[in-house]
Amino acid sequence: LTIEEMFNTALKARGLEKEVKVVRTGCFGLCEAGPICIVYPEGSFYSHVKMADVERIVEEHLLKGRIVKDLLYIDHANEVRDITTSISEVNFYKKQKRVALKNCGVINPEIIEEYIAFDGYRALGKALTEMTPQDVIDTIKKSGLRGRGGGGFPTGLKWEFASKSEGDVKYVACNADEGDPGAFMDRSVLEGDPHAVIEAMAIAAYAIGAKKGYVYIRAEYPIAVKRLGIAIAQAKEMGLLGTDIFGTGFEFDLEIRLGAGAFVCGEETALIASIEGERGMPRPKPPFPAVKGIFGKPTIINNVETYAVIAQIILNGADWFTSMGTERSPGTKVFALGGKINNTGLVEIPMGTTLREVIYDIGGGIPGGKEFKAVQTGGPSGGCITKQHLDTPIDFDNLTAIGSMMGSGGMIVVDEDNCMVDFARFFLDFTVDESCGKCVPCREGTKRMLEILEKITSGKGTLEDLDTLEQLAYSIKDSALCGLGQTAPNPVLSTLRYFRDEYVAHVVDKK
Ligand code: SF4
Repeated sequence: LTIEEMFNTALKARGLEKEVKVVRTGCFGLCEAGPICIVYPEGSFYSHVKMADVERIVEEHLLKGRIVKDLLYIDHANEVRDITTSISEVNFYKKQKRVALKNCGVINPEIIEEYIAFDGYRALGKALTEMTPQDVIDTIKKSGLRGRGGGGFPTGLKWEFASKSEGDVKYVACNADEGDPGAFMDRSVLEGDPHAVIEAMAIAAYAIGAKKGYVYIRAEYPIAVKRLGIAIAQAKEMGLLGTDIFGTGFEFDLEIRLGAGAFVCGEETALIASIEGERGMPRPKPPFPAVKGIFGKPTIINNVETYAVIAQIILNGADWFTSMGTERSPGTKVFALGGKINNTGLVEIPMGTTLREVIYDIGGGIPGGKEFKAVQTGGPSGGCITKQHLDTPIDFDNLTAIGSMMGSGGMIVVDEDNCMVDFARFFLDFTVDESCGKCVPCREGTKRMLEILEKITSGKGTLEDLDTLEQLAYSIKDSALCGLGQTAPNPVLSTLRYFRDEYVAHVVDKK
């Protein structure tokens, strides 16, 4: 039996099945404390719930109204171990602003009525009945929303390009091929709130004049694939996908395409090739997808998190969105917080929040009182941020300025015990494995870089090797065909920039 089934059985045994509803939701975000069970209306936050705890929660809390204190969550923030009685007191959530994750951990993602009860499909109705396609594009442009997949390109502008591109057939696509080590933002959104993505894709299709969309999702996400499939079927059944949506004559259909796990298929031209049934390899740009995308037709490709905020922007207006975040990066950003951190999980913060707040206030600090050393953002394409930049407000431009990047949202924390050369080697090893082999700089260059790194970590390197490593890194960045190769050297370059002494400590010749 699952915990959910045990709750239902225990409630039934006490005749409470009509009074207490068990809702199986998507992710609550605080993975470290799972399995989590929240009892409303009190908001009592039970963590690490085991089968044996279910009987006690039902008997004591639900039947007798007594909170089971020893099962409540213990907060790690700043090493203060507070027992919290309600979710509203949990430090992990206090500085978060849940927009893309609004419904995750709240609704049952397999029941469309629950999504509708939380304003679901109202934005699509508003767009179709009260707004022209250009109004939709203008609203998204005014909101300043930038692509959450990592590039940070203005979403409204992308939609405008596709809308103005000539073409009898156009497509919208969702890039759900999340592949960064340590990243699970898209997975959680699709598992917890799949209708938000479907609704946004329909709005995008209306804006650019498309009738068909594809969600490209990795097959390694079986729960997300299943829930998305259920959501699409339910939306079709309710007339929210298909022909004559909301009686307006607008038609839109959506199809799921499974990716086979190649990291490079997250690159949009490789993703397009894969959807077309070709081998997933990048193609030169231009032409950009907005002009020539899937099957040579104008296409917009946005990532899951970008779509997840669209309906709320349409409903609440662009000014609501720009009231959060920074001037050049409005809104919020979801990060998957992992590595050496107490509160491993999924966090959504207003742009402009500092890294210190994320690591210490939300993340609860480093386990065992160890010292923070760095955090890697942007996964294998990103760079590390060090202690000296802990107070940098997080947004697209600030992270780039300090040699890292937003990326899709992976955030891996390392402490004083981690070797930064090993750390860089891990990411390079990953990109060498995932290089598609189409162009020489990436196919051969990253392998040579890895060989040098391995030589250094095995104690056989020289100072000249460090220079060669650096030169190779810059030439790969300049000459690789796609983003994977162009960014593959970043972890090496940023660790060389901030932790060169650790590289030097490894080499034989220290003269
Ligand atoms: Fe393939 Fe790497 Fe070249 Fe991209 S940069 S096309 S992944 S070989």
